[in-house]
Amino acid sequence: MKSHGYAAHDKKSPLVPFNFDRREPGPNDVVVEIAYCGICHSDIHQVRDEWGQSIYPMVPGHEIVGHVTAVGSSVTKFKKGDLAGVGVMVDSCRICENCKAEAQPYCVKGMVGTYNARDYKGELTFGGYSNNIVVDEKYTFTISPKLNLAAVAPLLCAGITTYSPLRHWNVGKGKKVGVVGLGGLGHMGLKFAHSFGAHVVQFTTSESKIEDAKKLGADEVVITKDPSALAKHAGSFDFILDCVSAQHNLNDYLNLLRLDGTLCSVGLPEQPLSIAPFAILANRRSLSGSMIGGMAETQEMLDYCAEHNIVSDIELTSIDKLAEAYERVLKGDVKYRFVIDMATLPAK
Ligand code: NAP
Ligand code: ZN
Ligand code: ZN
Repeated sequence: MKSHGYAAHDKKSPLVPFNFDRREPGPNDVVVEIAYCGICHSDIHQVRDEWGQSIYPMVPGHEIVGHVTAVGSSVTKFKKGDLAGVGVMVDSCRICENCKAEAQPYCVKGMVGTYNARDYKGELTFGGYSNNIVVDEKYTFTISPKLNLAAVAPLLCAGITTYSPLRHWNVGKGKKVGVVGLGGLGHMGLKFAHSFGAHVVQFTTSESKIEDAKKLGADEVVITKDPSALAKHAGSFDFILDCVSAQHNLNDYLNLLRLDGTLCSVGLPEQPLSIAPFAILANRRSLSGSMIGGMAETQEMLDYCAEHNIVSDIELTSIDKLAEAYERVLKGDVKYRFVIDMATLPAK
């Protein structure tokens, strides 16, 4: 199938218009005409090869929403015209113990990423900075028409990446929870932790975000540049979700955990982070990570958002302004997620 979008051809050049082929839809596939695609910081890491595993040409984008334009003969979940969403993965082996347990991101064979990956036939996958995508219905989500579609897009990555660990560690009423970094992931973590009934403390380097953090649901806001402000919370948190994209000191946050508390890091800075053994030994603390979420849990999150009227705070941008959007994400200058309006993609 003919597709077109924007691609990076190496780690330094700007993204440019790109024509490419997708597979012809099979019996289990849906074709989604993409209406909006969020800009995740992972797009920037991968376009710039900061994780050392980039494959070019790369069409980024894994926060995808749009309308179904065709369905294969065996598809039951969608019909033409339905809203649909696609996230960070488009396939997994389906038979390993993790896939069977609906933990597909941890597929033993390795899940297939929506872009910058090879599918099980060895074909390069291309993401959502494009006009359309072909995905097996099992890896495609239903979207409620109740919500603003553009603002739903970031739920497909930023939403599930924060929802999943907050659920896994039972964040809710009676728990003191921290969210580190008020960016695309962080602002969703804050909204969910607040919605689940926890006492939420937002940690931020940006004084300009204090009022926003409170509006988004923070009970307290701590400016992390001030060590005494952090020290006041020593040994008091049940759970901290670290959503920072760059180098920072994890030990500062480990020290804030109470007995058996957990720090879950979902951020993916390019360099390793160092741990002081004393910071985890004290209070029998745990340091963990978490990767997006399983298919069933992602649908559960989308349904939860429709029920509780939760979406991302977004700024719409056009596809010809990707370079500017990337620079602004790196400066923390977006409230709080850029979403590309795919109507701005020129006809090929
Ligand atoms: P983002 O929108 O750029 O937000 C990152 C936030 O981190 C910034 O807004 C800023 O918040 C804080 N920050 C940035 N530089 C910092 C520094 N040097 N020191 C301390 N804080 C800093 O990025 P995102 O899209 O939310 O993604 C965050 C990270 O998660 C990225 O590394 C991304 O690749 C990763 N990610 C992981 C998964 C997963 O499955 N685990 C999924 C998606 C993304 P303040 O201004 O509030 O300080
Ligand atoms: Zn992402
Ligand atoms: Zn598997």
